[in-house]
Amino acid sequence: MRTDLAALFIIFGGSGDLAQRKLYPALFNLYQKGYLKEHFAVIGTARRPWSDEHYHEIIMTSLAGFEADETVKKTFASHFYYQSHDVTDAQHYETLKQLAAKLDDQYQLQQNRIYYMAMSPRFFGTIASHLGSEALLTADGFNRLIIEKPFGRDYDSAKILNDELTQTFEEDQIYRIDHYLGKEMIQNIMALRFGNGLLGAVWNKQFIDNVQITLAESVGVEDRAGYYETSGALRDMMQNHIMQVIGMLAMEMPVSFSAEDVQREKTRLFKSIQPYTPAEIKTNFVRAQYGETPVEGQTQPGYRQETNVAPASQTETFVAGKVLIDNERWCGVPFYVRTGKRLARKETQINIVFKKTGVNIFAPDKNDQSAVAPDVLTIFVEPEQGFALTLNGKKVGQGFELVPGQLAYQYNQQMLADSPEAYERLILEALNGDGTNFTHWRELAASWQFVDAIRKVWDADQTALPTYPIGSMGPKEATELVQSTGAEWIFDPTQSK
Ligand code: NAD
Repeated sequence: MRTDLAALFIIFGGSGDLAQRKLYPALFNLYQKGYLKEHFAVIGTARRPWSDEHYHEIIMTSLAGFEADETVKKTFASHFYYQSHDVTDAQHYETLKQLAAKLDDQYQLQQNRIYYMAMSPRFFGTIASHLGSEALLTADGFNRLIIEKPFGRDYDSAKILNDELTQTFEEDQIYRIDHYLGKEMIQNIMALRFGNGLLGAVWNKQFIDNVQITLAESVGVEDRAGYYETSGALRDMMQNHIMQVIGMLAMEMPVSFSAEDVQREKTRLFKSIQPYTPAEIKTNFVRAQYGETPVEGQTQPGYRQETNVAPASQTETFVAGKVLIDNERWCGVPFYVRTGKRLARKETQINIVFKKTGVNIFAPDKNDQSAVAPDVLTIFVEPEQGFALTLNGKKVGQGFELVPGQLAYQYNQQMLADSPEAYERLILEALNGDGTNFTHWRELAASWQFVDAIRKVWDADQTALPTYPIGSMGPKEATELVQSTGAEWIFDPTQSK
């Protein structure tokens, strides 16, 4: 891969949490690895009247976790410039443009620009139109826009935002971040599926009984209640991350590994998802809130007791659902999805559950399948990373009993040492003009339409949400959802092994 890439980063929201916690460390990693060397500069913009010196101190603080030499950090920080800027004020873009042109000359940046929207989504459209109207885009280099989630709060608002962005940027200049697509093991789904003839042959309705995706968080809303109250788990996790994981697991093999071909297949897949009637939504989707729970003699607040949460809030902190795909590969195979806060453990896990054998010749009644566990391919996304294939073998000893055993492949710390953090990987891909792991507008539109239908039914139903205890894996309704087709959730950390 090319090193010493030339680009100017303009970060809108340069004093914010995302910039300090994720973006500056990611850029520093790229610097240490040589992808960024001499020919890069960063303009951080925000409202506060900071000096460049103060900004450098902020950068140094955000690098506190790195063991690197202080002089290396300082040299890196010297590429950063601060511009006090109100994104709604057209005049400020003129100052920004002049600084950008100066840095372009000073660092020989070849007019390459990355505009990073690291601030409140309500400004995304405004910034993009000003970038166009005040002519910040360069004629000779590349101009790429990286945009954070949330991308709208439903299809209509996402469409309005997209229309605003596309007045200035072409679709292939827009890099919509879904940081799940930057995770090592999510990218690994492609390797598993399309790099193994064995798995490729059984990746269909003939062999797969169901697919399970769990994105479990152990934390509650913490200090984000203000945002979360307007979002909920459906918008916060399902519309983007879970839909993208479904896309990776279920799409057809792309013609090539290019952004265009991968995004085309994901879009086709999203269009094949079975739309539900309101009645089907009620049976196929479950929502809930974590309730007040006694933990070690103390009562832990439930969602409705959290600071800044309305006492009668109907915002869901848990979603489980059954997604069906109407295409030849998948018809009839449920994709069970689940995400929630305050669950038993923070873990993202995918389970591909294979069909059992037709008969069980080891049981007195050959039709008794209860003693046979299904074969399961588990993809550990985080915190552990790896795969496991659970197969049945013979229990050692007299008699003949089947027991599941695991062929497991876990990446160890040494192997993962080189694995870039999601933001580092995605920023480098954007620098290289590779949009494979970003979301195309068509994917986003289709996933919003699916999620909007659920939201509409839920919003019209003011029945109090079921609650689940903190430290559980959600309400009983989520267990029943899966059991209704004779399956079980494979990942259950409450059943300690
Ligand atoms: P933040 O509130 O910490 O930072 C917002 C930034 O915007 C600040 O730098 C602030 O000065 C600036 N700002 C606000 N109004 C302005 C104006 N009128 N003109 C100029 N600057 C202005 O927010 P954040 O947590 O860094 O999140 C930024 C974006 O990233 C949001 O879209 C958020 O949803 C998304 N995001 C954040 C995280 C995270 O870990 N923080 C994770 C995923 C997505």
